[in-house]
Amino acid sequence: MSKHNLTIHDSLVTPADRRTAFGHGSCVLWLTGLSGSGKSTIAAEVERILLTRGVHTYVLDGDNVRHGLNADLGFSDEDRNENIRRIGEVTKLFVDAGMVVLTAFISPFREDRDRVRSLLSPGEFFEVYTKCSLEVCEDRDPKGLYAKARAGKISDFTGIDSPYEEPLNPELVLDTGALSVDECVEKIVDLLEKAGVIKGVSR
Ligand code: ADP
Repeated sequence: MSKHNLTIHDSLVTPADRRTAFGHGSCVLWLTGLSGSGKSTIAAEVERILLTRGVHTYVLDGDNVRHGLNADLGFSDEDRNENIRRIGEVTKLFVDAGMVVLTAFISPFREDRDRVRSLLSPGEFFEVYTKCSLEVCEDRDPKGLYAKARAGKISDFTGIDSPYEEPLNPELVLDTGALSVDECVEKIVDLLEKAGVIKGVSR
């Protein structure tokens, strides 16, 4: 499609204006890891805590987005690429809007995650790897998906018959097989404080 007649309108409000108005920075915490590794659980809890601290925040979650924006996409490699591309663009809009966004998508391919990183400015993209062995994830099986995949009722399932490419240089690794949910949440909040995205609170 030609982009010939499109004009981008400049906003009268800059990202710096939004940071001043909100009292915090904006970024994405891009959670990636196997199904059942804890992305949704951790993202939801971080969102809850940030909101109590007055931080404008929002979670983009895999299943929710696949019911709406990406309802037309499946799980082939091509559709997974497109899934992450669209989420990357939506994430960029949220970050521009001044929010701290958490995304909870398996996002198994390094190239897709790196493409989202390249859409954002330095300091706006934090790759958070929810590292957990396939055995533990399969044992948890919170949505019963591994059982279905093993029974051949789901194909292209990450970890079973579709690959997962571990992050090479993530900003944070959460060993969710060993840590509690609260410990993982604390590490993310610490990361945001150390990066100066949010203000620290005296404990
Ligand atoms: P994902 O979003 O990665 O598919 P979910 O968050 O849906 O994973 O499920 C993870 C499951 O693991 C939940 O039942 C959660 O209670 C459990 N769990 C145990 N320890 C942790 C931890 N440290 N972090 C996150 N989840 C954990």
